[in-house]
Amino acid sequence: MDEDCRLEWVRLSYGMEGIQLQRMRWRQHQAGWDQDHCVACNAIFADFDHSEVQRGDFTTCSDYVFGAEYHWVCDRCFADLKGSIGWTAVEDPACESKR
Ligand SMILES: [Zn+2]
Repeated sequence: MDEDCRLEWVRLSYGMEGIQLQRMRWRQHQAGWDQDHCVACNAIFADFDHSEVQRGDFTTCSDYVFGAEYHWVCDRCFADLKGSIGWTAVEDPACESKR
């Protein structure tokens, strides 16, 4: 998928520009919710091993409008798009403590 398409998908996801993302392993946070998708390229995040599945990369923090672990971004999209979208990687899972 080319970069312009991915940028468009991120911009269609409310409030995803210029935010902090934390590196995390994907986990089921709601019953019946067994996967998420990269907001940019639609890669699958889930808690099982499969060639098409990412086990976790970057996700929203608790300061995001819809909360932590709401949207996910794969490693590759993070690296390719962070300059255009203004993403910052934070190490601390409790992002708000840095604000
Ligand atoms: Zn991606």
